[in-house]
Amino acid sequence: MKHFPIFLAVEGRRIVLSGGGEAALAKLRLLLKTEGHITVYSPTPTPEIETWAQAGRLTLHRRTMTPGDTLCAALFYAADEDPTEDARTAAIARADGALVNIVDNLEDSQFITPAIVDRDPVTVAIGTEGAAPVLARAIKADLEARLPATLGTLARIGKAFRKAVEVLPMGRRRRDFWADFYFTAGPRAMQDGGEAQVHNSLQTLLHKYENTPERDGHVAFVGAGPGDPELLTLKARKALDTADVVIHDRLVTPDILELARREATLINAGKEGFGPSMTQDEINALITQHAATGAQVVRLKGGDPTVFGRLDEEIDAVEAAGIAWHIVPGITAASASVASIGQSLTQRGRNASARILTGHDMKGFADHDWQALARPDEVAAIYMGKRAARFIQGRLIMHGAARTTPVTVVENASRPDQRLLSTTLDQLTQDLDAANVTGPALMVYGLPPRAAQAQLSQNKQELA
Ligand code: SAH
Repeated sequence: MKHFPIFLAVEGRRIVLSGGGEAALAKLRLLLKTEGHITVYSPTPTPEIETWAQAGRLTLHRRTMTPGDTLCAALFYAADEDPTEDARTAAIARADGALVNIVDNLEDSQFITPAIVDRDPVTVAIGTEGAAPVLARAIKADLEARLPATLGTLARIGKAFRKAVEVLPMGRRRRDFWADFYFTAGPRAMQDGGEAQVHNSLQTLLHKYENTPERDGHVAFVGAGPGDPELLTLKARKALDTADVVIHDRLVTPDILELARREATLINAGKEGFGPSMTQDEINALITQHAATGAQVVRLKGGDPTVFGRLDEEIDAVEAAGIAWHIVPGITAASASVASIGQSLTQRGRNASARILTGHDMKGFADHDWQALARPDEVAAIYMGKRAARFIQGRLIMHGAARTTPVTVVENASRPDQRLLSTTLDQLTQDLDAANVTGPALMVYGLPPRAAQAQLSQNKQELA
């Protein structure tokens, strides 16, 4: 981030602009929305600027700027559309201590003006650091359509009511009140009877919240999917939107955590495969302690919480504490991995079933029915298999699996840094070592990437 977005207090402060043409007009239209004192220097101002001056909306000096003209100004806009004049006025403003923007000159500007969606007092500022004005305009149009025009009015009325709402205990209860007002009761009242009705609705709503008991704590076990935020379910998004506490594991990506409600407490309960970690008992205690205070807890797990997520232990702990819970399923790594190689996990005639295995369990390398898995055309999604690769390879070959059986390792499935390693059972460990796989990786045993499969069957035909 080369530019840090802030909202500057300009009420009663000087904002100075040099220029009187189109660029000046465009900026002034925005600046006139503020409560700053606007001063314009231009020997040749457009008629609109003259009109605004006559109406007392700004102070107009019909001359070029001279040193001292920007004293005590908070902001200065060089908008003469003439590089030499802009450089001259900008130097004066800088010397006077104002923050300087030169129109259409990102490099020499100390600040830039964002695209604005105005629902005063709610203001959305959109910036792309000059990289993509088209994008900024598209986002602005999108938000303009999405944010009802009445939003500003609701926020203004709501703001005046904040003091009264202090009768509700701080924290979740107050937040629920406001969410109810802005998203349900307020818009409805506005539609039914305009501003007067909105005032009434606040009173009624407050009365309701004062007289209904607090919500109980709750735990949602939510699947975060394999990493791509777009692979979250709508229910997962909703749970993150309303969470008081989010307890997540190591697999959950920062992009997804960004989606949690801003006030939510984020706790990393990450467990490294073999490294130091929070114990399961500590995690259970963390979940139940937070929920016992009445918090809406989201226990966010990579992929699907029901797949190698130690879900049952956590549910047992939550139930023992008498806390309500539910599960929001997610897209598991196996689904994302086969999708990334263009294969289906099952295919009648080839593999009518597929296994979900773990390379290691709580006690170490996990044992399985190797003999069954070693038969031709078996398919398995092997989780946590990196370190157990040599063990798995040995067991399978010992039980008669073909050394040429395809194995595809998918690292960071669905993420921007996704990598595929297409190998065979024979070459698995060697290729894994060489590939230096550091992210979470799933081994798809029995399936090559679709392109490689086409190649394989072609080779077979050529041999025949
Ligand atoms: N509940 C998770 C699995 C947790 S076990 C799920 O449903 O996906 C952790 C293992 O999942 C990792 O060791 C890795 O084998 C696999 N895994 C999780 N996310 C992955 C991803 N984005 N890409 C590849 N493998 C992943």
